[in-house]
Amino acid sequence: MPSHNDGVMIVLSSPSGAGKTTLVKKLSSLDNFEISISHTTRQPRPNELSNKDYFFVNEDEFRRLIKNEEFLEYAKVFNNFYGTTRTPVIDKLDKGKNILFDIDWQGADQIKNKRLDYKLITFFILPPSKEELFERLSNRDMKDKLIVEERMKQFERDVLHWINYDYVVINDNLEKCFSKIKNLIEAEINNGSKDYDLEYIRSHVSKLTY
Ligand code: 5GP
Repeated sequence: MPSHNDGVMIVLSSPSGAGKTTLVKKLSSLDNFEISISHTTRQPRPNELSNKDYFFVNEDEFRRLIKNEEFLEYAKVFNNFYGTTRTPVIDKLDKGKNILFDIDWQGADQIKNKRLDYKLITFFILPPSKEELFERLSNRDMKDKLIVEERMKQFERDVLHWINYDYVVINDNLEKCFSKIKNLIEAEINNGSKDYDLEYIRSHVSKLTY
């Protein structure tokens, strides 16, 4: 049963390469914050741990979970399925834990449309420029030029979803971006004043999409 002592749902989405995963991990070190662990059909990367970074499952198992209506949201991203199971999230929110969701815009839309009785704050993280994004993507373990080009094209499509989020934050510096998000979450929880300039964001987005 939802009550005012419940935890808050915090969604972070971003186009690939904006640094969201690092931010989510950093936010999870705050007192009483926990990351929701998703299920995915994608293969684990060398540095990833099963049941910590993701629950890695095959497509049959994923489809079984869909059929059993166990997902709060799920989506297909880059040819793989990703989803958030409902029960662990609701249990933790009911115990007062704040839950961080590292999910894409499709999942964010689904959670928003569910209109659950828990406070929801959504963030969209953007890179400082297209040049910087290109650099970041090229320096990742994905040295493949075609993949970088594909992710750049995907960026053009993904960035358009910024409008559906409560806040858009530019990740030009990890520490600054982290503090900005942390302050906005605190202001939202305590009904404090929010340091947020929508016009600045609007002009940044138009620079990224011209
Ligand atoms: P990656 O494969 O790089 O870990 O994640 C690819 C994308 O899938 C990222 O944008 C990530 O936020 C998103 N993602 C991860 N888990 C989920 C999930 O449970 N649901 C949805 N909708 N997206 C997810």
